[in-house]
Amino acid sequence: MTDEPMIRIEGLSKAYGEFLALDDVSLTIREGEFFSLLGPSGCGKTTLLRLIAGFNAPTAGTIAIDGKASTGLKANQRPTNMVFQNYAIFPHLDVAENVGYGLKRLRLSRAEEARLVQEALDMVQLPDLGRRRANELSGGQRQRVALARALVMRPKVLLLDEPLSALDKKLREEMQAELRALQQQVGITFVLVTHDQYEALALSDRVAVMFNGRIAQMDTPMQLYQHPVTRQVADFLGGMNFLDSRILDETGERLTVETERFGRLTLAKPAGFAAAGGRATVGIRPERLRVLWDDERAEHEITGTVASRAYFGETTSLAVRVEGLDAPLSIVETNNFGADGLLVGAEIRLAYDPDALVLMSDLR
Ligand code: ATP
Repeated sequence: MTDEPMIRIEGLSKAYGEFLALDDVSLTIREGEFFSLLGPSGCGKTTLLRLIAGFNAPTAGTIAIDGKASTGLKANQRPTNMVFQNYAIFPHLDVAENVGYGLKRLRLSRAEEARLVQEALDMVQLPDLGRRRANELSGGQRQRVALARALVMRPKVLLLDEPLSALDKKLREEMQAELRALQQQVGITFVLVTHDQYEALALSDRVAVMFNGRIAQMDTPMQLYQHPVTRQVADFLGGMNFLDSRILDETGERLTVETERFGRLTLAKPAGFAAAGGRATVGIRPERLRVLWDDERAEHEITGTVASRAYFGETTSLAVRVEGLDAPLSIVETNNFGADGLLVGAEIRLAYDPDALVLMSDLR
């Protein structure tokens, strides 16, 4: 991966009639980066991907790919290729014919074409399936064929529109690991559209979280998860306990706030922080709260009562009612210390590290 931008997008908007599906989006994607567009259904991520691919034209703004303005370039004139959600492979053709389909217009020799097809099939770990008909493949195999068909064209950018969403959970997880390994192997810039936060976190170098046609936050998975700038982003990326707080003092980049139970805290302000009526939201992820057993003591403790529990095998989730807090605290514990034995009604003590508390804007 280098710092060269492979894709530079500036002020990009797309309107469908009166409806603004994409609203003034700017971003750069580096060469060799695995970049994801993450957001709920209808937030505009597919619209953005299709504009990069050249399937649709923007209403405003520009896209440059590999240093070249793409305005006016048709999809097949761009150094991009797309893998679709429904694979879009031809059932009546065999695997090799499907993979080689796009090569036809390059008028290569038969031997050269066969070599490129085989290379692409090797990449996606289907070396021996070239003569199999596409309608005789499993879902995972079809997905690999779709990938091979895009990779065979040697694009500089591979655009992936929810490529794994049709697969069942176990296969999807296997394919996620393979997709990441493949991207590292070929070194091509990948832009993935997904509404699955775990997929985005697990695969990407960076993620843009989108709501209502805009990018709410763009960062590495760890930064996004640990330092969401708004309540909306925090919520979309996973479980979060939200604590309402009153702002007491503001000094430069830090705010001092007063919360119920967690007391007075001085926390870093996130980028673009907006206080609403002297209030801010403080968050702590469920796995950053820990049950204290027996005589164990911690510097920062909270006492509560187990209000409900859910057993997940590896972990147990608890909702713990704490006096003074409107909502119970969610906590997730691995089961190696006996959290699976805690019953509803049990009085427990929780420990937390104040560094795990984050301040965010109250935008929901
Ligand atoms: P999903 O995950 O459901 O595909 P998305 O985030 O990819 O969602 P888009 O497909 O980009 O969302 O659509 C963004 C918004 O634009 C949606 O509200 C959608 O209904 C609208 N939209 C998309 N394509 C068109 C179109 N051709 N005409 C009118 N509205 C459209």
